[in-house]
Amino acid sequence: MDKRTFLKTASLATIGIILNPLSACDSSNKDTSKVNADSTAVATENGLFTLKSPFELPALPYEFAALAPNIDKQTMEIHHGKHHHGYVNKLNAAIEGTKFSTQNLREILESIGDNDTAVRNNGGGHYNHSLFWESLSPKNQVPTENLKSALEKDFGSYEAFKKAFTEEAKGVFGSGWAWLCKAGDGKLFITSTPNQDNPLMKNLVDETGTPILGLDVWEHAYYLNYQNKRGDYIENFYKVINWEKVEERFKA
Ligand code: MN
Repeated sequence: MDKRTFLKTASLATIGIILNPLSACDSSNKDTSKVNADSTAVATENGLFTLKSPFELPALPYEFAALAPNIDKQTMEIHHGKHHHGYVNKLNAAIEGTKFSTQNLREILESIGDNDTAVRNNGGGHYNHSLFWESLSPKNQVPTENLKSALEKDFGSYEAFKKAFTEEAKGVFGSGWAWLCKAGDGKLFITSTPNQDNPLMKNLVDETGTPILGLDVWEHAYYLNYQNKRGDYIENFYKVINWEKVEERFKA
């Protein structure tokens, strides 16, 4: 490694530590998950729900640079390869030898309680990021038929949905996620959760539902490119939403 490469690597590691001490601490620990960068077999939500320990880091369904300039290559590399990977490793370590080791990911998220801090943070981290990668696409899309109708029915219009979702995402204090969810009765609603919580965590969140779209508003998701301008990151997020995938989740 030459000096320049070292400096670059060292500064990236520092950024990782600043932005997410939780997973950055993990990068030097044992690597129990497998990364297959060549794999195109990305876990779908149903597939994701049925997966059990040991969990693996799913490959991105596009190139790291595919979402640029809306989400830049370096952010994607660090976010996927360091942050998400860290959650996967820590999740596997946290559930080893516990009741969670025989449960699938959905069962884990639905059953965790107040005292399961490590599984909560890292199980949430693994699920949320897996859903997030698949929520994005380099193809500029618009909401497709069924979902478009549902957004209009439940929010008034696509623009009204967008405004409400943007407000929710901007309003997250500190680190967390904004969600578009489907409730048990099929209605859509917008909510947000702190840290790596999500609306599947029945015992921990106020509003439960199945997430069909999620936006990561942790600083590690945008800080390299947008610095403090979370609003700009949110606005550009709408240009890279994979609405086909959101529709698929809506219909499931
Ligand atoms: Mn993240």
